[in-house]
Amino acid sequence: MEPQKIKVDALVVGGGIAGMQSALDLADQGYQVALVEKEPSIGGKMIELSKVFPTLDCCSCITTPKMSAVAHHENIHLFTYCEVQAIHENGTGFVADVIKKPRYVDEDLCTGCRQCEYACPIDLTHPFDRHLGAHRAIYVPFSTAVPQIAVLDIENCLLCGKCEKVCPVSAVDFTQTPMNLEIETGAIILATGFKITPPDAKQEYGADHIRNVVDALVVERLLAPTGPYGHVLRPSDGKEPDSIAYVQCAGSRDKTLGVEYCSRVCCMYAIKQAMLLSGALPLADITIYYMDIRTFGKGYDQFYQNAKAMGVEFVKGKVAKITEDENQNPIVRVELIDEGSKVVERTHDLVVLSVGMLPQYNPQEIYKVPVAQDGFVHTPSTNISPCLTDHPGIFVSGTAGGPMDIVDSIVMAGSAATEAAGYLEDKNNSIKAGKQREFAHA
Ligand SMILES: Cc1cc2nc3c(=O)[nH]c(=O)nc-3n(C[C@H](O)[C@H](O)[C@H](O)COP(=O)(O)OP(=O)(O)OC[C@H]3O[C@@H](n4cnc5c(N)ncnc54)[C@H](O)[C@@H]3O)c2cc1C
Repeated sequence: MEPQKIKVDALVVGGGIAGMQSALDLADQGYQVALVEKEPSIGGKMIELSKVFPTLDCCSCITTPKMSAVAHHENIHLFTYCEVQAIHENGTGFVADVIKKPRYVDEDLCTGCRQCEYACPIDLTHPFDRHLGAHRAIYVPFSTAVPQIAVLDIENCLLCGKCEKVCPVSAVDFTQTPMNLEIETGAIILATGFKITPPDAKQEYGADHIRNVVDALVVERLLAPTGPYGHVLRPSDGKEPDSIAYVQCAGSRDKTLGVEYCSRVCCMYAIKQAMLLSGALPLADITIYYMDIRTFGKGYDQFYQNAKAMGVEFVKGKVAKITEDENQNPIVRVELIDEGSKVVERTHDLVVLSVGMLPQYNPQEIYKVPVAQDGFVHTPSTNISPCLTDHPGIFVSGTAGGPMDIVDSIVMAGSAATEAAGYLEDKNNSIKAGKQREFAHA
């Protein structure tokens, strides 16, 4: 089938906070923008978080209006569940070959009423809730998903047809196949974000086999108002933990993992979670094992001081290993730096790994944009134009360019939009000048 053709001024790849902000900034200036997101909803990692440091604002309350603004902006064309397969240069700009994955639900008909979800007999663990909650085989991705359109997990579907029968608008369509789109664009912004350290990366911390050792995104979901339990409960037995430990640098500043850089956000998110846990579980002891605390942003050090004043215990020490006792309580083996490097073992109910940020996506093959040694997009003018890549017309936004927090991601998103707008303006001016020259010569 002929691909559907779309012509825009700019293509933004990735619908996390950085991609959404870049798209909105360009669209507000009158540019036509295509936003391509590989997941069924936009929102990225930010929509999974509970509250944000250092203000402790509700994350969903900040992110959802942005998601909605993107969906309703007249200059933004939103393509969810889509991936760019290839990029060609066409003399005036780029052409992106995009594949739209089948949702098995007609996007134009579905109203997000969830009747299909209630009728579906299959329960699967939900990746949005870090596999602590469940979703049905056909489901709206999460309560504030944008767009509010169901998606069917065909791999796990029984094909029983119950969803099809109850759908009031006959949107379920088992015959859907992948669709090809061709997006012609003048500039591209890469906002493909980050992924966290995988659980099996550091075997000695046991995140892939000790049930009460979890990563910090799990705690974000446990603390979120829309979380899986509505309470902070530990995974093995559903008990409220009385003693919780954080292990810092569990994925960053670690030569053994090949990740020598600091992920920048882990100290701050651990402090934030410790404060929120103190509120949710007032009787729990919370300890943070750290090498050094890096509170680099505006108001961030005060945030750290507040956590200390609230009674969060900060222990300078490098955790060597985590094991568990017969009751599945994690045992942390740690070298206490301030106590003459004494090695002790401490038992907790729950251990949280402050995992690092890794590049989610390598744009080298498709976009011909080189990556730096750390795997994030290479930025040749980091100090003066941090959004420029080595490829003219392609810009980088947010954590696709390196670890950073939400504030910096938003600032970088604005900067990428400005650079892209400048590039498009220059190109339009040179096309106009060329036409005037041709006219004068004729
Ligand atoms: C546990 C934890 C807690 C945190 N807490 C805070 C906090 O309190 N305050 C704070 O400031 N920061 C916090 N952060 C950091 C914050 O999450 C990031 O700064 C922010 O989410 C970065 O946004 P982004 O848009 O760059 O990336 P992402 O949120 O990763 O978004 C990238 C998007 O691109 C999409 N994508 C990827 N590849 C492709 C592709 N090839 N094609 C199409 N789409 C693609 C992804 O699906 C995703 O939607 C925390 C991080 C963690 C891990």
